[in-house]
Amino acid sequence: MTYVVPAPEQATVPVDGSDALFPVRRIYCVGRNYAEHAREMGFDPDREPPFFFMKPADAIVGDKAEIPYPAKTEDFHYEIELVVAIGTGGRDIAVEDALSHVFGYAVGIDLTRRDVQIAARKMGRPWDMGKGFDQSAPCAPLIPADRFDPSSGAIWLEVNGARRQDSDLSKLIWSVPEVIAYLSGYMELQPGDLIYTGTPEGVGAIVPGDVVIGHIDGIGDIRMSVAR
Ligand code: MN
Repeated sequence: MTYVVPAPEQATVPVDGSDALFPVRRIYCVGRNYAEHAREMGFDPDREPPFFFMKPADAIVGDKAEIPYPAKTEDFHYEIELVVAIGTGGRDIAVEDALSHVFGYAVGIDLTRRDVQIAARKMGRPWDMGKGFDQSAPCAPLIPADRFDPSSGAIWLEVNGARRQDSDLSKLIWSVPEVIAYLSGYMELQPGDLIYTGTPEGVGAIVPGDVVIGHIDGIGDIRMSVAR
């Protein structure tokens, strides 16, 4: 097979303790999945079904990335998130079966042009330009699913050594199995899909020179910096 333009490079995430790579197919993200974050964004948390948005697969960047300050924003935000990597696809997956579809878990950051996202939200327009830009999805190496229980565990983020987000996975409005079940009702999930499961309260802006460390107990750290 020859292609008329260069074929895209496969986006990947390393797997902890292995030389093998996880090939990224699609990146799904959950909106407002912690009550205190919903409140800080001006919404009443509730148990309405979760909603989703996407980033392109090649928005993935690895641990310790130096990320350029993105164009077209003056309010570049971090959001620490648990990332779920789908190993076995399926549609209409039952909550009770959902965790058997998970290959592993990682610490990720949902980078956001907050001003662009909020302007789009106010006008009823898509979030893509606020959420799905280049290098907007830092993701640390995956921990295989048998080494991690996603039902609880501290999740926090520091900017230049100061704690900005500090919560626990037990505070997810929609648990990991519930998120997988809901999403698989919209899309047939496929091996290689990643799900960013939402961020707790404390989101805020970062500027050139800032150093960010995110952490989830039982998985580890992710580091990134904003290029000067
Ligand atoms: Mn997010």
